[in-house]
Amino acid sequence: MLLGLAFAVVLSRLALLQIVRYEKYHKLATRDRATEQMVPALRGHILDRHGGILAEDQPFYDISVRADRLKLGYVDVAALIALPAKCRGPQEANGAGGRPALQRGEEEPAQARARLRQECDAEFEKLVTRLREEPFVKGLARTLNRTEEEVATGLYKALRCVARGWAAARTPLRIVSGVDEKTWLSLRAVHEDVFRDSARLFGGFRGQTANFQTAGNWCQSPNSAPPFPGLVCTLSTRRVYPHGSLACFALGALGELSPAEEEALRHEGVLVENAAARARYWEHLRDDISDERAARLERILRADPRDIRSLSELYGRLSALRPADRETVAGLGLAEPLRWSERPPRIQLAEPELIWLGVGLPASVAHNALPDRAIGELGIERVLNEKLRGKSGMKWRDSLDEADDELGFRCHSQPREGDAVALTLSLSWQRAAENALKSQDKLGAIMVLDVAGGDVLAMASWPDFDPNLFSPPRDGPGREERLRALLSDPRKPLLNRAIAAQYPLGSVMKTLIAAVALEKGLVSTSETFECPGYILEGGQKFHCDDSRAHGTVNLVQAIRRSCNVAFMQIGARVGVENLSPFGRQVFGRRTGIELPGEAAGIFPDRAWRNQAYPHNPGARTWTKGNDYLLAIGQGQFSATVLQAAVLMAAAANGGYVVTPRLWLDGAAPPLRPLGVSQANLAIVRQGLEEVVNVGRPGERGTAYSPFHEQGPELPIRVAGKTSTAEHRKGAEPHAWFVGYAPTDNPQVAFAVLLEEAGHGGAVAAPLAYRMLREVYGTRAAPVKNPGGPSENHNVAAGEER
Ligand SMILES: [Zn+2]
Repeated sequence: MLLGLAFAVVLSRLALLQIVRYEKYHKLATRDRATEQMVPALRGHILDRHGGILAEDQPFYDISVRADRLKLGYVDVAALIALPAKCRGPQEANGAGGRPALQRGEEEPAQARARLRQECDAEFEKLVTRLREEPFVKGLARTLNRTEEEVATGLYKALRCVARGWAAARTPLRIVSGVDEKTWLSLRAVHEDVFRDSARLFGGFRGQTANFQTAGNWCQSPNSAPPFPGLVCTLSTRRVYPHGSLACFALGALGELSPAEEEALRHEGVLVENAAARARYWEHLRDDISDERAARLERILRADPRDIRSLSELYGRLSALRPADRETVAGLGLAEPLRWSERPPRIQLAEPELIWLGVGLPASVAHNALPDRAIGELGIERVLNEKLRGKSGMKWRDSLDEADDELGFRCHSQPREGDAVALTLSLSWQRAAENALKSQDKLGAIMVLDVAGGDVLAMASWPDFDPNLFSPPRDGPGREERLRALLSDPRKPLLNRAIAAQYPLGSVMKTLIAAVALEKGLVSTSETFECPGYILEGGQKFHCDDSRAHGTVNLVQAIRRSCNVAFMQIGARVGVENLSPFGRQVFGRRTGIELPGEAAGIFPDRAWRNQAYPHNPGARTWTKGNDYLLAIGQGQFSATVLQAAVLMAAAANGGYVVTPRLWLDGAAPPLRPLGVSQANLAIVRQGLEEVVNVGRPGERGTAYSPFHEQGPELPIRVAGKTSTAEHRKGAEPHAWFVGYAPTDNPQVAFAVLLEEAGHGGAVAAPLAYRMLREVYGTRAAPVKNPGGPSENHNVAAGEER
């Protein structure tokens, strides 16, 4: 709701900007560009839950050019600088005199404008034909130890910016980034720099500041003539992830605005999620609205929905609705657009940025290049982009005097550094999880949750990627190739296997079946089941693990030894109708973690089958065999690694389904009761403890060996469940181990999955052991303060309950 409100404010402000205050902005946007300079803001830090830095902006040495001083051999720079005036066509007579409210697209015939643009582009291409042969390019490439192609491409882009009128000829435009410090300083000794501004930009920097201040004392030698006229030494920032690939799936990565996204920003001043796809969807939806529905919607929206053409108008109307009206509108088919209106925009330009770009102004007015083209593309960098981004500021030069280099900020034009965002991750857990995963060669994932509040302490997926590789500007030696290799890797290193992939859950499901069977009074702890190693149903033979006969087992023993035969019988008693209300609390739905791309998994109950097979009643029939398969987490059922960890958290914390969260300062999401009593959960937990801790020959738990025979004892007791999940004939099964620790006072729940790796007890459980040993140490050498959840956070989460 709050977000919706914020959105409404943005849009109404934008409307105000575009119409009511048109005059003022028109005047500002049409005056001489040469007196202004955009100052990009630093992006906010990303921290772990204890304040460790996971992402920060660091200064970067760049080489820029200003076109008005550039002396080239083959390119006529003066002709190039004169292009924008030509392209813009006839200027309005007197700037801002008495124009009516803005009506976009009415200024000039669009066709004529497009033709003019084409001619100018052609002329530009003609002017720069011999750019690569320029001595400037060849000499600079040699000096910087970069390829001529890279320098030429950078120069081409900068000149194109000037030719398009997006930047004044005297604005320094970056052509090469990430130059080494020594080269940069030696060039700076004999060239112009914008150091004074940069020093202020980096005023608040830790560590790097001293370096720059020393550099500021560098004296320009009066005798040396600059070898590259027009070259300017500039500083910028690059997003740096100091731990490389560590926590990359939570952190995400930056990208650069695509041309379509840039266009949306130039046009609306706001960039929303999937703008183009939404526009198409809305067009489609709009056309399907019947007269009757339209009339009902019109009463609430105060407009016929079929007349709403632009998304921003739609958002504006939807955001302004009262809760009751929102429900009605959702019921009338606009549920999806309503959801859009609740999400915050990805980028929302601040006032100086709107002015700089000339948002909402006619095409005949100069529109500048964006000051900062970086945008969060993955992970938290994407979800909280607007918070992290900060706001660029604008400086004005009061006179055009070259000697007067003092630029001042006016009111409301200072750059504002982005907010720091703290994540729930604990570096020690995250490292331990990743080290465990990387100690072997199977693909997989590990999730670790704080059982009380659902804080994500670790989220690891393998293979992974280095987010530094994505940070713009994406140039420099070998970056293109490394990025291409990453994107074409068949193992899909960008896939977050912890939340975005779904797997059969296998025997982990027995935990839920046992809890529900106890709760419904369908099984008692004293009852026993006979396991001959298989069960027959409808002419089909359902095997126990390894076709082993477990003999006589009760419920707790069946969990400990993972007996399929016992659980297929219990599952058939429970039935999918009884199981569904419990199962649906965790499975077949997204958990709501604040990351894009979360998979929902499949809980194949009646509701799901009706939706999946609307025209095939046969496929909707539920058989006893289906019950058997569901009880052992096979068949159509699938789940994410995160969901498995949520199930374990509920078993450990007394039956509360947590909403996993990554953003420490975000709202604490509510806990939902699973609906199983404490007493019944205690029986399930007894089984889970025995899985890890009973070692009597012939009765041992499926995860006893890795915790008690293959390495030193842990200082804590662990509970868990193994699973060996079949998924494809002929392929190795997926291996799971899920659990919680310590058993007497559970703090963390975890889930380990390895794709096509074999037996859960043999390959997945040892990784959990390894991870827990790294965090807690061993009985002989325990770790005093195992990292997070920190003490004070535990108290807070406890109080919420
Ligand atoms: Zn069995």
